[in-house]
Amino acid sequence: MLSDIEQLARAFNCAERVLIITGAGLSADSGLPTYRGVGGLYNGNTSEGLPIEAALSGPMLQRDPALCWKYLAELGRACLGAHANAGHRVIAELQRLKPQCWLLTQNIDGFHRAAGSPDERLIEIHGQLAPLYCQSCGQLEHDLAACLEAQLPPRCRQCAGVLRPPVVLFEEMLPEKALDSLYQQIGQGFDLVLTIGTSASFPYIVEPVLRARAAGSFTAEINPARTELSATVDVYLPGKALDVLPELLGHISGDRICKSTL
Ligand SMILES: [Zn+2]
Repeated sequence: MLSDIEQLARAFNCAERVLIITGAGLSADSGLPTYRGVGGLYNGNTSEGLPIEAALSGPMLQRDPALCWKYLAELGRACLGAHANAGHRVIAELQRLKPQCWLLTQNIDGFHRAAGSPDERLIEIHGQLAPLYCQSCGQLEHDLAACLEAQLPPRCRQCAGVLRPPVVLFEEMLPEKALDSLYQQIGQGFDLVLTIGTSASFPYIVEPVLRARAAGSFTAEINPARTELSATVDVYLPGKALDVLPELLGHISGDRICKSTL
């Protein structure tokens, strides 16, 4: 009888098309606070008495860029002060092993990129923190750290327009390119869908799992706490990604061949 983690390793070795979905729990292992979307870093209201969802919203960036940027800067400093961890590196390795292994992330910290996940198979559904760009003329600004130290909101060197990161703020649409790419890949089907450190509260996180399940594909979840998906997936591995993923990679590397019988 295979253990849960051995079952997942075997499913990976047997799969051609794999989708890995990551959420804030993975970056929490790097020391980042877990946040729901871009805003869950905060509980409740800001010191201005606003819900954080209002402070970190698209309309607020237009109405009061300094206030919105006060909280964007907190996110930015948290990300700049942390690094990709062993979990991110294992995921990049899994993508090297499987040329059809896709990665969908809710995280905006850029750690997957830093850990070596290939751009062309990385879908950052909530966007990313850098590079900043000018809302007026489109000019890019690559030095996020310098911008966070200067007066907020950061302004364009060319036209003094307000800069912003390419993240999805509250009340903004998901990036069309990322959505297209996601649904194109979902349409092709996956042999294995694995969610890691996500609370699974968004439809575009839950849907790929449910569709894989309905198609008879293997589904798995790694998360310290149970989510609404835990009872649905074939294998639920309680634990931190940082601990579980290196162990999983050990099983995968130790037994690279797909064995269809127990
Ligand atoms: Zn500009």
